[in-house]
Amino acid sequence: MKILITGGAGFIGSHFIRYILRRHPSHRVVNLDKLTYAANLNNLRDIKNNSRYRFIKGDICNRRLVEKVIKDCQVAVNFAASTHVDRSLIRPDEFIRTNIVGTYVLLEAARKFKLKRFIQISTDEVYGSINRGFFSEADPLNPSNLYSASKAAAEHIARTYFTMHGLDVVITRSCNNFGPAQFPDKIIPLAIIRALKNKSIPIYARGLNIRDWIFVVDNCRAIDLILDKGKSGEVYNIATGNQLSNIKLCRMILRKLNKGLGLVTHVKDRPGHDFRYAMDFRKLKQLGWRPKYKFEHALNFTIRWYKDN
Ligand code: NAD
Repeated sequence: MKILITGGAGFIGSHFIRYILRRHPSHRVVNLDKLTYAANLNNLRDIKNNSRYRFIKGDICNRRLVEKVIKDCQVAVNFAASTHVDRSLIRPDEFIRTNIVGTYVLLEAARKFKLKRFIQISTDEVYGSINRGFFSEADPLNPSNLYSASKAAAEHIARTYFTMHGLDVVITRSCNNFGPAQFPDKIIPLAIIRALKNKSIPIYARGLNIRDWIFVVDNCRAIDLILDKGKSGEVYNIATGNQLSNIKLCRMILRKLNKGLGLVTHVKDRPGHDFRYAMDFRKLKQLGWRPKYKFEHALNFTIRWYKDN
């Protein structure tokens, strides 16, 4: 099977490519990535010469290129996105363009060339904040920032390709990922790198906002399972129940690095900052998935990676 993976030079996409090549010896992968600031081809240098892997530099909004690339693929997994919420305040156009228009261009091409499956990678952020309890896949979407709104729009559009055109579309909504090679505009690599340099770590407001954390390889395992066993037209939450406030998470990282907790600096909160994300993932469990990596263990591994790299 030949899989188009978009955004494969980014954090999760690069882990997913390596996971697929390792797990499925007969699969081939085409990685279409525009190489924005968040991309790093070094993440994939170990597979650069793998005969089952091909990299193409390009934009998912480029219809002609997308058609050329997709036409001999059987499946597409769309990771490509503008992903940093803070950036959506200053560069909203990138989010509308890549996350919405880009997804539409891919879906059109997938429909035209009759792909067997299209996986749209989405996020828990589309639900918005929940003070107590857990969102299930049937809950309405209520995004509160431009990143999550653009991801929600992409989901709605993807669903219409299932309802209107019968394209086999499956959507995954994952909680916060962490692991090696994440771009340091996200909290875990940011905190590790700044702490290693004895620099202050900025935390929004009192740092009480809560996120659920998944080790990136567990997300890859879930997406691979959904690719194979997920039901057409369905949405799957990918979560772990490792819920932590940002401040607790930073203090944990500082303690592991033997650094003083005084490195945390509280900064003015971001507008539209969701308080808590939490998802019920029973539907994914029914497919047979359970998180494999213990949070602390995976965090230690991640810290070691940043120290070494
Ligand atoms: P990332 O920012 O590390 O990587 C995104 C990649 O997409 C980059 O390599 C970038 O060059 C590429 N890209 C951006 N615009 C493009 C375009 N127009 N055409 C082609 N390539 C383009 O992101 P990530 O953290 O790996 O996230 C991947 C996907 O997972 C995204 O769709 C994101 O919404 C979703 N997601 C991420 C998380 C998380 O915690 N990181 C959680 C839930 C969902």
